[in-house]
Amino acid sequence: MSSTPPPGGLRKRTQTEGRDLTRPASPEPLPFPLYDNHTHLEFEDGVDQLDPSESLDRAVAVGVRGVVQVGTDLETSRWGAALAASDPRVLAAVALHPNEAPKLFAQGQLSAHLSEISRLAAQPRVRAVGETGLDFFRTGEDGRAAQIESFETHIEIARANHIALQIHDRDAHDEVVATLKRVGAPERTVFHCFSGDAQLARICNDHGWFMSFSGTTTFKNAPALREALAVAKPELVLAETDSPFLTPEPFRGRPNAPYLLPHTVRRMAETVGVPLDEFCARIAANTERVYGSWDPVESAA
Ligand SMILES: [Zn+2]
Repeated sequence: MSSTPPPGGLRKRTQTEGRDLTRPASPEPLPFPLYDNHTHLEFEDGVDQLDPSESLDRAVAVGVRGVVQVGTDLETSRWGAALAASDPRVLAAVALHPNEAPKLFAQGQLSAHLSEISRLAAQPRVRAVGETGLDFFRTGEDGRAAQIESFETHIEIARANHIALQIHDRDAHDEVVATLKRVGAPERTVFHCFSGDAQLARICNDHGWFMSFSGTTTFKNAPALREALAVAKPELVLAETDSPFLTPEPFRGRPNAPYLLPHTVRRMAETVGVPLDEFCARIAANTERVYGSWDPVESAA
């Protein structure tokens, strides 16, 4: 274990207006420990604040033994890398979010920030470049060229460092697939918060791309997503919270955190018709294939 002190300081705030901010109780523990593929521990949400360490304690208690802490800009990427270096339950992903890229480009800052992401990606507990990708929902036509350029560079950074790629794809399935084919997808490529249908799941199957399902899988209005999950190859399926967002049912809209992942995992196991313990073991093995082991490497002293 490292003697680096845990990072402090960085706390972000979610939209709280009109929401029930009481934190849901802990679910029944999972029968086999697994991992949250994608979370943002820097966010504060809820009436009772959980700092990252408390949040991870609660997760471990219900069978979520580790998380991938995901960056969206330089500040959160640096913070996540430092947290991963100091807490064995955390691995980090670093990137500039697709909605940040056009803003940075307009300020003439995009290349400088990408260089810093590239530097962070070389750290031993940074095991993915993400979240990067394309978001045609929040970014209009004028920002697309910068967004695509940023995505391409992130793909190259992941490949150069032989680490995974975590993709944010919002209303941009075709262009994301085309970009991956054009640039060449990294060996381990993950669609975070998979939002496609059975057709995109088949494309992912064909290319060996991983699909990470979030709390949206439990939503009443998401039958297409469950259909995609049923089509996805078992060895390509991951699970995530994307907390503090996308809280699973029956707590949609309440504060989310990695300890609520079991609700999503139970619904996923039900959807594919696999016993829960077997399904959890599968998710754990898939996740370790993408990011490697969470266990700290003993330094030869
Ligand atoms: Zn996210």
